[in-house]
Amino acid sequence: MKKKLKVDPIKNGTVIDHITAGKAMQVIELLNLNHTKSLMMIGINLSSKKIGKKDIIKIENRVLTDDEVNSIALISPEATLTIIDNFEVVKKRKIHLPEKISKYIICPNPNCVTNIENVTTKFLIKANKAVEVKCEYCEKKYSIEHVKFNF
Ligand SMILES: [Zn+2]
Repeated sequence: MKKKLKVDPIKNGTVIDHITAGKAMQVIELLNLNHTKSLMMIGINLSSKKIGKKDIIKIENRVLTDDEVNSIALISPEATLTIIDNFEVVKKRKIHLPEKISKYIICPNPNCVTNIENVTTKFLIKANKAVEVKCEYCEKKYSIEHVKFNF
């Protein structure tokens, strides 16, 4: 018996599922999809057995880079990624938080060298229950909820 495909059909593209409820718009910003000409479906506050409520994004004809995938984890560590090719699921994987991330996060410390000179930020990432980032320049630690992103 053939297993039924659980995602609504897009021919080729990417499904980002189990996004933390309310975070889909941030993911769209991160992936620069605001002005996409491709077919895109966004679901917000859908019910999920696994995580209660969730958001979901389906984008046609878009393959994500490793950098993009890793940075989704910063916004939504529980997100999962499914690659669709010719209506079939070809790859399904959980998104993993990277250990380090550069350029996407702005250091909240106004005296940090990254805010004074033109230096690309570098952050170490630690995740226990909450995600915490540590600036490699000024060595201050911040909860991920308190940093601004630079997408
Ligand atoms: Zn800093």
